[in-house]
Amino acid sequence: MARVFSGIQPSGELHIGNYLGAFQNWVKLQHQHDCLFSVVDLHAITQAYDVPSLSQRTLEMAIGLLASGLDPERCTLFVQSHVAEHTELNWFLNIVTPLGELERQTQFKDKAQRQESVPAGLLNYPVLQAADVLLYEATLVPVGEDQVQHLELMREIARRWNARFGDDAGFSFPEPQALLTTAKRVLGLNGQAKMSKSLGNTIGLLEPPDAIWEKLRPAATDPARVKRTDPGNPDICNIFTIHQGFSPPDVQQTVATNCRTAGWGCLDCKRVLSDNMIAVLTPIRERATALRAEPPKVTDILRAGAAKARAVAQRTMAQVRQRMGFLGGGVP
Ligand code: SF4
Repeated sequence: MARVFSGIQPSGELHIGNYLGAFQNWVKLQHQHDCLFSVVDLHAITQAYDVPSLSQRTLEMAIGLLASGLDPERCTLFVQSHVAEHTELNWFLNIVTPLGELERQTQFKDKAQRQESVPAGLLNYPVLQAADVLLYEATLVPVGEDQVQHLELMREIARRWNARFGDDAGFSFPEPQALLTTAKRVLGLNGQAKMSKSLGNTIGLLEPPDAIWEKLRPAATDPARVKRTDPGNPDICNIFTIHQGFSPPDVQQTVATNCRTAGWGCLDCKRVLSDNMIAVLTPIRERATALRAEPPKVTDILRAGAAKARAVAQRTMAQVRQRMGFLGGGVP
């Protein structure tokens, strides 16, 4: 069974964008592979962040993941900072990572130009990502198209470490492969930007049914549908993208046909979507409410997950330290 690693930042945003972009896919993957999923709080501090809310956001993200269907019996769910080996391997991989490659990363360039003073942690972000995956010798990494460049760098880092310290007959890192997700990127309800709490264009994962409909009703659709009789194009409509995440395939087909032939108005289409969203999200909201009432249950799951992850990480680090020549294999 292939090993998968994936992480999500504790952004404090539990909305349908991250449900469709990550959670839903992770829930499927846990039945197919040996999966490690992490709330990557160490990544979340590479830019200015709100210190007092970090721990609560981390807990909330874990609750969202568990409520969405991650099963601790089927996957390992843990908080990145609870396994110290992530930062240790990050340091070791820094010494084989070319600076020029880091500076060429599109995400770094985008984020750096918005800052007056660029922290080194932002530059080294992809090295920590490489450590996250290589620490567990994971061979598959679910990525969206915007992350393919980081994965390529991860593979390059693995190759460089292997060339200098690895040993085919003993230990070397496998080069991880991309597991391209089929999830489409959901735009915000205004149809103009990524779904984001700060832009006020989200539907929360845990919203009650009335709020789902109230938010969906005025949401942007194909602008060509000015009148009820104007045909539309579902392929450019964000509402259809959301249907693809929540409605069964036969309903998606009906939506596409009724959109192209103007058989439905957009409100009819949204009503069907609202009903399907409510059917999927109601049990998630109920599970989240139960988990929020019992934070120790969640922290116990995360502690057990960290212990499982740490056992694998420690085996890897014993090999890495020994091959890098530290006195006593890096153990006092
Ligand atoms: S009918 Fe549905 S898919 Fe077509 S434009 Fe309206 S909301 Fe979008």
